[in-house]
Amino acid sequence: MPLYDYKCDACQTKFEQEHAMSVPPVKTCPHCGQERVRKILSTGGVMSGGMSRSPASGPSSPCGMGSCGSGMCGMS
Ligand SMILES: [Zn+2]
Repeated sequence: MPLYDYKCDACQTKFEQEHAMSVPPVKTCPHCGQERVRKILSTGGVMSGGMSRSPASGPSSPCGMGSCGSGMCGMS
């Protein structure tokens, strides 16, 4: 069951609540009772990075030796 982080805008209290994804998020602050609670995204989420890794096929030197343009690698 995922753990969610919440913060109350009224009293600035942060708290965690564990509930299923199908359950609506917490609205009422357990400390001050006001409905000023916001869900905050926990750090280390799944949406960071991702697109940086590229395959080892460069556009200029398919042999990886950097000398393909001169015909020295023998792979062209
Ligand atoms: Zn509060």
